[in-house]
Amino acid sequence: MNVRRKRFLFYTVLAGLFTLLFLFFISGLNSSTAPILIEVQAEELIQSSVSTPVPAEFSSLPPDKPEQPPFPTQVDTIPSPTPSVPAPTPSVQELTAPPQTTSVTVDTYMPNGVVTPYASSKVSIPVLNYHSVTIDPGNVVVISPAKLEAQMKYLSDHGYTPISLTTFINLIEKKSVHAAPDKPVLLTFDDGYVDNVEEAMPILAKYNFPATLFMSPGMVEDAGYLNWEQVKQLQQAGWDIQPHGMTHPHLPKLSAEQQAYEITEARKLIEEKLGTQADVFCYPYGEYNQTTLKVLKDYGFRYAFTIDQGYTTNQQYPYSLKRLFINGEESLKAFINKLPKTN
Ligand SMILES: [Zn+2]
Repeated sequence: MNVRRKRFLFYTVLAGLFTLLFLFFISGLNSSTAPILIEVQAEELIQSSVSTPVPAEFSSLPPDKPEQPPFPTQVDTIPSPTPSVPAPTPSVQELTAPPQTTSVTVDTYMPNGVVTPYASSKVSIPVLNYHSVTIDPGNVVVISPAKLEAQMKYLSDHGYTPISLTTFINLIEKKSVHAAPDKPVLLTFDDGYVDNVEEAMPILAKYNFPATLFMSPGMVEDAGYLNWEQVKQLQQAGWDIQPHGMTHPHLPKLSAEQQAYEITEARKLIEEKLGTQADVFCYPYGEYNQTTLKVLKDYGFRYAFTIDQGYTTNQQYPYSLKRLFINGEESLKAFINKLPKTN
């Protein structure tokens, strides 16, 4: 090997070494700088998220008390007793109504005579909430007669005892009940649809089950709703009839005077027509506010039912009793799952 060739080889090896060194250096740069860049980016992101103003809807906590004063002095015109004709088919709106109740301090207005609603020993009763009983596939507020029949049969076969509203209140208040019922259940029907007398009444009568109807007297004889003769038939069949507002209004949208009219006029008409006591209210759409509670207390209502989901207990505030919505589209199994297994 001559000197030239040796020198050529030497430079070639040297160039190779430099290339390797260079590549090593580059790869070292890549692996060490990339994470830093990412960290910087993350830090920038964190900083930017901290400095970004909080969106308005999250910037303030919900108010402890409703914005509306407890008893507005504003005098509005009292609505006409003649209601507009509502659609006979119930809508899902009642179930998806905005939770007006969340901003209300519920224990401000205690019914007269109620000393301690939050009893230490708990009484818990499922209160089932039905509406219309007919065939209307896809409408969760409507249950078919066949499904209602299957549910009543299940209750009967499995030792549940649908009770009257009076027995329900006696149980909640721990008053002695003549014969304490086994696995008590309260069946409630809202609104006063004509199918309650045509479909529900015969099914319940078959099992000798009582029920409670919350009706809006201003809608009596409207198409699709019960007339007074039919309401009397239900009463004679063992149904308790109680008020649900005169015209099924959104109560929190009304003035104190309008609310008082809706609540007390409904009660007065039921008591006059049926000669009964109608002092257990049911909020239309499940909606109420502080004014509603004051009206209920001022006029001596004993209890009020919501559409908040759960068993009713003697530890709940008397004007915010829970119920269990019966979805007409659900299976019998889903219905069974709602019921308490022991009692
Ligand atoms: Zn209703």
